[in-house]
Amino acid sequence: MSAKIISGTEVATQIRVELKKEVDEMKEKHGVVPGLVTILVGSNPASISYVTGKQKTAHELGFYSHQDDQPADVSEADLLKLVDKYNKDPKVHGILVQLPLPKHIDEKKVLNAIDPDKDVDGFHPINVGRLMIGGDEAKFLPCTPAGIQELIVRSGYETSGAEVVVVGRSNIVGKPIANIMLQKGKGANSTVTIVHTGTKDLEAHCKRADILIVAAGVPGLVKPQWIKPGSCVIDVGVNRVGEKLSEKTGKMIPILKGDVDFDAAKEIAGAITPVPGGVGPMTITMLMKNTVKSAKIHAGIK
Ligand code: NAD
Repeated sequence: MSAKIISGTEVATQIRVELKKEVDEMKEKHGVVPGLVTILVGSNPASISYVTGKQKTAHELGFYSHQDDQPADVSEADLLKLVDKYNKDPKVHGILVQLPLPKHIDEKKVLNAIDPDKDVDGFHPINVGRLMIGGDEAKFLPCTPAGIQELIVRSGYETSGAEVVVVGRSNIVGKPIANIMLQKGKGANSTVTIVHTGTKDLEAHCKRADILIVAAGVPGLVKPQWIKPGSCVIDVGVNRVGEKLSEKTGKMIPILKGDVDFDAAKEIAGAITPVPGGVGPMTITMLMKNTVKSAKIHAGIK
């Protein structure tokens, strides 16, 4: 039987509807408007497209949103001053510095300068530590891993006691999603294994996964025979494998493939995310969710 296709596009839309309601209520009852600032240095086309998407969504949800464009040659000191300005601005509850930054700027220094209580990307070491401690301590979960958890929970898979295998140990996907799934509590409480380039038998680990999360960045790494029948497969990989002509625009667009052989895997798994349209659409939505959470915390709204 063919797997249920977990549509990130649909789940993201559903969460945005919930968020819009929450934002409207916050405005009406408490006069609080969530505020998000995105800082873009230079004019990298991919970065422009990412921040534009974030600003557009923030605007649609009724946030106070502002994009701060800085020239590619802005000094590190000036960028740090800018971050400090938004750290102190009470209208702003979330600060996002779009990466990558130009080579003359120390990325770590800039990210670490963001007030951890406005770090809606969840990458500040304090928030990484808070996630590790778990429970009420965890303030802002990093957006892609938080989106992965939502997809699993909303597709009805039992996570408590489930064998979760995560392929990849990056700081932005692998490690945080493993940390999220092992916490005690709803939507987690799983037995988690992380596999990576140093793992001896990738196949054996993947085969026993009730929930398999793949974030390696290697197209087709996970073979269909590695998938446990009926399991939930979350493919985080986004790999450009070529180009094709778009019928809509008449322009060349990238052909994207995941880390899992989707067509064959969907005949074995119980549920699977497509690429594109799976994890991808969730990331911006979870950034908005973190910003709403931050605004509530700052305003003392329960
Ligand atoms: P990364 O390169 O930082 O980390 C990849 C991890 O996979 C590493 O820990 C490595 O050990 C492991 N790995 C690589 N090849 C392997 C192999 N052959 N066997 C076992 N392990 C292997 O990548 P990342 O930033 O974590 O991103 C992973 C993928 O997810 C990429 O394709 C990226 O584009 C995608 N991604 C998507 C989103 C989104 O959809 N919103 C967000 C982040 C990343």
